[in-house]
Amino acid sequence: MAKKSLTLLAVAGMALMLAGCDRPTGHEELLALDSHLDTPLVLDRAGFDISRRHGWQADYAQVDLPRMKEGGLDGGFWVIYTAQGPLTKAGYTKALAHARQRNLVIDEMVETLGDDFAPATTADDAARIAASGKRVVYKSIENAYPLGTDIDMLDEFYAAGVRMVGLVHSSNNQFADSSTDKGGQKWGGLSPLGRQLIRRANELGMIVDMSHAHDEALAQAIEMSKTPIILSHSGVAHLYKHPRNVPDYLLKKLAKSGGVIQINSLSGYLRDLDASPNRLPEFIGLYRKYQNAPGGMRENHEAFIADRRALDKKYPPDYAEFSDVMNHIFYALDLMGPDHVGIGLDWDGGGGVNGLQDVSDLPKITAALQKASISAQTIEKIWGGNMLRLLRQAEAMKGR
Ligand SMILES: [Zn+2]
Repeated sequence: MAKKSLTLLAVAGMALMLAGCDRPTGHEELLALDSHLDTPLVLDRAGFDISRRHGWQADYAQVDLPRMKEGGLDGGFWVIYTAQGPLTKAGYTKALAHARQRNLVIDEMVETLGDDFAPATTADDAARIAASGKRVVYKSIENAYPLGTDIDMLDEFYAAGVRMVGLVHSSNNQFADSSTDKGGQKWGGLSPLGRQLIRRANELGMIVDMSHAHDEALAQAIEMSKTPIILSHSGVAHLYKHPRNVPDYLLKKLAKSGGVIQINSLSGYLRDLDASPNRLPEFIGLYRKYQNAPGGMRENHEAFIADRRALDKKYPPDYAEFSDVMNHIFYALDLMGPDHVGIGLDWDGGGGVNGLQDVSDLPKITAALQKASISAQTIEKIWGGNMLRLLRQAEAMKGR
């Protein structure tokens, strides 16, 4: 970022403090990136058009072009997410087809809306693309399960533009233990194949993402990866004890190795919620029903939304507060320092709290950081500088 924007941000911060307003004018000038946009999950659903304004209250969508502009979000990592399935040949084949399809819908978005979105693969791309007025589209993998047992499959996704790979999701897979597998650990952290995958990611110049991984897998990845680890959407266990959140000793280890935690906004990871215990199983059942229906989620989007709305009526959701998200950011900043914290709110993947339910609300984060007298330089690092540093370090390791 140019010096100009730092000055602008400082001036805006002062104006904000004087006015007591909650919309900082300096936010617009920032290069603001989110490390975990699950929006590719909804891109090809009937009735969803990213160039049009949607509303989280109407169809639950949290990211689209009009609201990205309103919220000053320049882009980020668009996720190729695959749900965990059986560790069998048939399971891998099905998952690979799914991941390739998610990759394709990202490409289609960029091709169809070339005036508004541009593909990004290097750390330098982000500022250049944002300066041209377009949105930045990096790609990442959440859950490497579709790669099967052939590490070379990672090369296919690298060639497709993927620059971040998350090993595991909600249950153990062939690469690592998950933080939330009900059956406990399978590998004692990383599997031998998981270690190979990290080595290949280092060789290719990809960032390794250990969100969702078991603490032991994270500790081992920090030890063995040649470039710093990212937690693309995670939280702080000190504030809320949940397996998805990371204890202080690991956050310190992560910071010491140069890594970064990107704070997420999934309410259930931020605090205890006051929702019926029946809600979550029925919610998951709803997803399963439509994913397995003929035409899948893609063709049954409207019916799914109607059912989801009915479920919300039956078992009203409870959300954490905006201040909870900020508390996780502030705590991580205090513990780890300004070079190790960023933003990955898990939009369209479960994120969202009261007062921060879609990307149009993002300037509030900048306002809250300014109100807490966080420096303009640190705010820039939080909004993408730290994450891009990791990508730059991964690039420098490429081929070594
Ligand atoms: Zn996730």
